[in-house]
Amino acid sequence: MEVILAKTAGFCFGVKRAMDMAGEQVGKEHIYTFGPIIHNEEVVEDLKQKGIGVIHSLKEAADVPPGTIIIRSHGIDKKTYTKLLELGWNIIDATCPFVKKIHRIVEEESGQGTQIVIIGNEHHPEVEGIMGWCKTPPVVIDTDEKAFHFDKKNVKKLCIVSQTTFNYKKFQDLVEIITKKGYDIVVRNTICNATEDRQTEARALAQKADAMIVIGGKNSSNTQKLFEICKEECENTYYIQTLRDLDLNKFSCAGCVGITAGASTPNNIIQEVHTNVRI
Ligand code: SF4
Repeated sequence: MEVILAKTAGFCFGVKRAMDMAGEQVGKEHIYTFGPIIHNEEVVEDLKQKGIGVIHSLKEAADVPPGTIIIRSHGIDKKTYTKLLELGWNIIDATCPFVKKIHRIVEEESGQGTQIVIIGNEHHPEVEGIMGWCKTPPVVIDTDEKAFHFDKKNVKKLCIVSQTTFNYKKFQDLVEIITKKGYDIVVRNTICNATEDRQTEARALAQKADAMIVIGGKNSSNTQKLFEICKEECENTYYIQTLRDLDLNKFSCAGCVGITAGASTPNNIIQEVHTNVRI
């Protein structure tokens, strides 16, 4: 059996950076992350064992004596950021620079009176954060239907940005629908290369594999998208969190097994799966 591990599987630059910044705080007191640092329960648990807890909301942040709080790579909205400072927290901002760039774009463009359209999932923390840097209410679109129904009276100029982990092809499709509506549009493709590269490699791998394994946390939207892409190309695609979820019998007849993993999947989990599938 041939087993091919995608080169782009696992931590992207922004997540690695955030994990490194959190790692530097191990051993210090009163350290928390604002929300789970990444979408991976094992990693969050490991950090907890090392003394880095999770604060889930501003209310929780107000209820404990302030210490140091690490903003994860998804970023947060401006109001929450300001409020944490007011509460006396020392902030370590591990927002991915690519996400920070979107914050700057929407803040600047909305400040000039441009309507912001965010292509993404409005319930995803990254998008919630981006929304919170807009000076006027943005519109969030993630389906053809929403794009078709998009109709803003008295709006001339639009600035379209994307959630960094959004599917590139779907982004193009939605932009095309909106473009036909005749607004003056600035499109900023803010999908980061890490996501595009991982998706492209996953699709190519799934096309030649008899079975695909996609590894990632069950709440990770980028892993979910990776799974959808692989499933389109390869019916035998399996979504697992760790080796424990893997039924190796399913691969006994496969000539070629491909493995990829979401941006928040630690390398040790990927390696463990890789090693065991090869045996
Ligand atoms: Fe940053 Fe891209 Fe990783 Fe998101 S996927 S954290 S934008 S490097």
